[in-house]
Amino acid sequence: MPADATRGAAAAAMESSSRILIVDDHEDNIEVLKVRLESWGYLTASAYNGRDALRLVEAQPPDLILLDVMMPEMSGIEVARRIKGNEALPFIPIIMQTALDSTDDKVEGLEAGADDYITKPIDFAELKARVRSMLRIKRLQESLKEREKELLEVNEQLLLMSQTDALTGLHNRRHLNERIDEMFSHAKRLNEPFSLVMCDLDKFKSVNDTYGHQAGDEVLKQLAAILTDEAREIDRVGRYGGEEFMLLLPGTAVEAAVTFAERVRKRIEGHTFSFPDGTLTRTSSFGVAGWPNPRIDECDALVRMADDALYVAKETGRNRVVRFESDEFNAHQAAHDGDNTPRPDFGESSDGGLAVAGG
Ligand code: GH3
Ligand code: MG
Ligand code: MG
Repeated sequence: MPADATRGAAAAAMESSSRILIVDDHEDNIEVLKVRLESWGYLTASAYNGRDALRLVEAQPPDLILLDVMMPEMSGIEVARRIKGNEALPFIPIIMQTALDSTDDKVEGLEAGADDYITKPIDFAELKARVRSMLRIKRLQESLKEREKELLEVNEQLLLMSQTDALTGLHNRRHLNERIDEMFSHAKRLNEPFSLVMCDLDKFKSVNDTYGHQAGDEVLKQLAAILTDEAREIDRVGRYGGEEFMLLLPGTAVEAAVTFAERVRKRIEGHTFSFPDGTLTRTSSFGVAGWPNPRIDECDALVRMADDALYVAKETGRNRVVRFESDEFNAHQAAHDGDNTPRPDFGESSDGGLAVAGG
């Protein structure tokens, strides 16, 4: 069999397993249509009035409805209007059966949502062609829906990927910045405290230099797991730069954030990082800043302050937690007032890459 014929046969098989609902108040009409449609291989169901038709459609939506316009109680036009107005239903093509001279019925029916019409007395060759064409549209509509669903799923995955750091699975820097904005505005609106903690591994470069980049990656992953484990459900943890991490703590006053950072610092200090070729230990430094603070009215300032505090933690010996505007912070700033030495950047990897996926 040529390929085209195979395809044609497959389409025909699919089409003929289609279910067609016949709605007509005359039993004889239903019988005639039923016999024809079934002889063409379709499955049929029937209803004698609008209410039964609506009930059947809701219970098991057919692939097509052959709908008589002239019915007592509820006209076919009303039935069509209700079916097309029901958003819970899939697309079901409706072919109206109208009297030969009833232009008004045709117009009204199409406006009510019917997709096509056929005039009575029914010409069966025409009916066959119209049924097939409507079922073709139904199939196209279904594959379109399927595509749409796939697209939405892919979009969701892409969105997640664009927010995630590939190495650690944490929020990446861009997403963190969005979250800070959002959480900071929320805190201000509710007048709730909000704290930000920056965490940077000490002498991380030497991990790469001594054990290799893969070991370095493994350390970053394990550190990410520790931070996630220590954080609460409502906190946000992200990778801000190469080996710099950020924690956003809503509803947390700065003193509590310092206590939290101190706990994490101790846990990291006591943790043995293991990787295929060995184990190592490492310390980390923390900078903490919080709102409310009279000097902060935008979230950029909060990030800068945590970063400044982290800088002081590094300068004053590492493996420590420093709070912005703590006595020690202020003393350090005063002692270095007028220093013009450019500040080394702790926050970013030496190649300048941010939240780069390692390895
Ligand atoms: P400090 O105590 O002052 O923070 O010193 P440090 O060595 O930790 O800081 P520095 O900024 O000098 O070095 C950071 C290193 O982090 C350099 C860079 O190669 C490494 N790094 C950044 N991103 C990754 C990564 O994704 N994987 C690995 N393995 N290393 C990374
Ligand atoms: Mg470091
Ligand atoms: Mg660094």
